[in-house]
Amino acid sequence: MDNFNPDNAKSRGGISVETAHIFPIIKKWLYSEKDIFLREIVSNAADAVTKHRRLISLGQIEDDESAYRITVRLDKTARTLTVEDNGIGMTEEELIRYLGNIALSGALDFINKYEGENENPGGIIGHFGLGFYSAFMVADTVEVVTRSYTDSPAVRWICNSDGSYELFGSDRADRGTCIIMHISEEEGEYLDSGKIRAMLDKYCSFMPTEIYFVNEDDDATRDSAPVNDTHPLWQKAPSECTDEEYKAFYRKVFSDYREPLFYIHINADYPLNFKGILYCPRFTNEYEPVDGQVKLYYNQVFVADNIKEVIPEYLFMLRGVLDCPELPLNVSRSYLQNNAYVSKVSAHISKKVADKLCAMCDTDRENYDKIWDSIRTFVEYACMRDRKFYDRAKDALLIKLTDGTTQKTSEYLEACKDNHENTVYYASDREAQAQYISMLEAEGIKVALFDKAIDSQFMQMMENYEPAVKYQRIDSDIADVLKSEGDSAEDERLVTLFRRVADNDALTVKFQSFKDERTPAMLTVSEQSRRMEEMMRIYSMQGGDADGLASFPLEYTLTLNTSSPIIKKLSGYAAEDDGKHKAELIASQIYRLTLLSQRKLTADELKGLLDGSFELLSRI
Ligand code: ADP
Repeated sequence: MDNFNPDNAKSRGGISVETAHIFPIIKKWLYSEKDIFLREIVSNAADAVTKHRRLISLGQIEDDESAYRITVRLDKTARTLTVEDNGIGMTEEELIRYLGNIALSGALDFINKYEGENENPGGIIGHFGLGFYSAFMVADTVEVVTRSYTDSPAVRWICNSDGSYELFGSDRADRGTCIIMHISEEEGEYLDSGKIRAMLDKYCSFMPTEIYFVNEDDDATRDSAPVNDTHPLWQKAPSECTDEEYKAFYRKVFSDYREPLFYIHINADYPLNFKGILYCPRFTNEYEPVDGQVKLYYNQVFVADNIKEVIPEYLFMLRGVLDCPELPLNVSRSYLQNNAYVSKVSAHISKKVADKLCAMCDTDRENYDKIWDSIRTFVEYACMRDRKFYDRAKDALLIKLTDGTTQKTSEYLEACKDNHENTVYYASDREAQAQYISMLEAEGIKVALFDKAIDSQFMQMMENYEPAVKYQRIDSDIADVLKSEGDSAEDERLVTLFRRVADNDALTVKFQSFKDERTPAMLTVSEQSRRMEEMMRIYSMQGGDADGLASFPLEYTLTLNTSSPIIKKLSGYAAEDDGKHKAELIASQIYRLTLLSQRKLTADELKGLLDGSFELLSRI
């Protein structure tokens, strides 16, 4: 039994005059992230083990084949939380040197600079190596019992939260260090085993030394398995990892039982020197929140969750782990935001994602086709945000077609170059534009489906980047393939008639013979006019001057099919004196029906369509 009656103390001391400054700050400023004290203490223990291993590998000490372990022991009755390791240990002199001094110069500078500001607390700790002292966020007394790997005798050191300490001899026989935190009255939650277990899971899941959690009140915990995985998948060479391992790792770390769409194992050498695995999650529906989650590690020690700064903003949906030993263990958001190394990591990740898309598209096309619809919004967004990403990923951009298949833009253009060169015909609404789609499909023209909110901007970007290729909505013009050589003589009476029923003097009425006789007319809005109107709408939605809208009315063109028997009949009625009523009825029905595919009818238009239909039925 150690002899630590205060009267027997070998020596006493105070950590330093300035500690008076430090301790209240540890307590006050670190409040919001108090839990990290356990990470600090356990990672010190893991470091001590690593140091011992290294001494062996350097041949400085003999390998005693000890099974390294860290034990975290909770004793609710004694109100203690203990972290014990069998690492390198400390001599008395080392203990005083390492734990009896806080690197105060840096600390005081920092305090002078930031006092009063609520800086990221994790950042403060890291700035001056207060790791060990973070224990005082939850403990009012911390005991350290340690025995060095050298022959020096073991020591027991008891430090209070006012910075005063006492040093005793100890009869500890085993090499290593035991940190006993006497949990203070107001921090009782740290005596809850569920809480400690959850903290270990969060911060220590992948630390490199086995960690055992023992709850003195629960015998079942005495022989339990380690809480951590000492060889996380990201540390292995990608060639040694199986698909199943990647998926299992994802399930475990993100508790998501849906298989990820794809994953990327990054193993960046010098100078970036980081490892990681990134996953693209599978989203079940469009409205699911798609906040990614990237966990940052420092040599297998958890640093922070959801580090958006390290991956490009446009890859926000990614989940994964990144281990960056080049970053300090305690990093603040503002540090990451303005860090040149972080930008390089971010650019590297972007490159890797683009390369992965291309690789999947080249070598696993069948599967890539299947996931394209789920990833395309992200990929298109990424292309819009970062030209470099676009340049790298462009060969992996697919077009989804209305017939359910997918093609690369180049494949699409190649396939239809006999019919239309360098034009991608697209539909933005499968239902509303069904008539146009079926007419084009009947002529063997494939129609792309760009029906997501992002698509109109994406197409615009594509036209900027690749000016040779135009995107044209199928209802913006009558495609040449639909036209036939037949007579397309104009009929002025019909022009007047349709302008009247449409109540639009500016309506352009054209005459064209279609291959398909069944369609009497088609209403089109030029690509340019529609885009202008869309832009104005977005602009006014964003609070712009909506009055401007009025000056950009949609320019409709009604093309009458001169091969259609209905149009021929209509011409006849329009020319007869007693055919006027019939002509009006047919024309207004045709106009309203074509209007249906362009926009929602107004109440009056709909009423007119119904009344007209009933009248026609009554004549049969
Ligand atoms: P840091 O870990 O940032 O150096 P700490 O205050 O956490 O700062 O620890 C100071 C030093 O105390 C460590 O660098 C290490 O030399 C020593 N130390 C802390 N914990 C242990 C331990 N469990 N075993 C051996 N040495 C330790």
